[in-house]
Amino acid sequence: MATLEIRDLHVSVDTENGTKEILKGVDLTVKQGETHAIMGPNGSGKSTLAYSLAGHPKYTITSGTVTLDGEDVLEMSVDERARAGVFLAMQYPVEVPGVSVSNFLRTSATAIRGEAPKLRTWVKEVKSAMEQLQMDPAFAERNVNEGFSGGEKKRHEILQLELLKPKIAILDETDSGLDVDALRQVSEGINRVRENGEVGTLLVTHYTRILRYIKPDYVHVFSAGRIVESGGAELADKLESEGYASYTKGGASE
Ligand code: ADP
Ligand code: MG
Ligand code: MG
Repeated sequence: MATLEIRDLHVSVDTENGTKEILKGVDLTVKQGETHAIMGPNGSGKSTLAYSLAGHPKYTITSGTVTLDGEDVLEMSVDERARAGVFLAMQYPVEVPGVSVSNFLRTSATAIRGEAPKLRTWVKEVKSAMEQLQMDPAFAERNVNEGFSGGEKKRHEILQLELLKPKIAILDETDSGLDVDALRQVSEGINRVRENGEVGTLLVTHYTRILRYIKPDYVHVFSAGRIVESGGAELADKLESEGYASYTKGGASE
């Protein structure tokens, strides 16, 4: 079973007014088969954690370690992270002009599996994954992210997750901007991927609503750049009723 270990991670970002430390010592272990929800107020550093794991150049790791089965993830290129089995939706380009969804998915699958998937089975795999996500087949021929709506971006993210079968998936705000039906379809997609027990999921979100569909094994509260409380799914219920006020200085929840 693959294990992602984050130890005492400190991350800074360069701003106009100098360097600002955002992550202040994050410790977290995610194993294949487990679902962890990271929840916290806006600006607490949740996306910074996701971007740092994705290897985004804007974020500087100042100390701490991230390993996958003992291998140093921070030393890996973005491609190497994907091949090692770490899926980060935002590691992919925002817009890829001239590359269709279908070609993009096959190229990604080839890079990760080390060989091109057989065309006949691949076409079937893509078709069935798209059907399950209630996506229009024409979507496969569109250019990646070009003119995608918020909902299409999220579905495309889950489509990649279903087809690329990573060991560890990091999903940032997968629930934002989705209407109730889209939220349910996207959640069902994540649950299908979880069902085989082979993916460890880090679900980053500000709101508790996605957790009505996806039951996390662990919930972590993020505040001011670190995890301040961890618990089981019941912690999300507490956050739903009480918000983040008790975790933030001065009682502000946003
Ligand atoms: P969250 O995802 O929890 O809302 P973020 O990680 O997006 O939080 O942001 C945490 C803090 O870091 C915020 O104060 C934000 O303004 C700052 N921050 C994040 N990324 C950058 C950046 N690229 N440049 C400047 N400040 C940033
Ligand atoms: Mg934010
Ligand atoms: Mg965020």
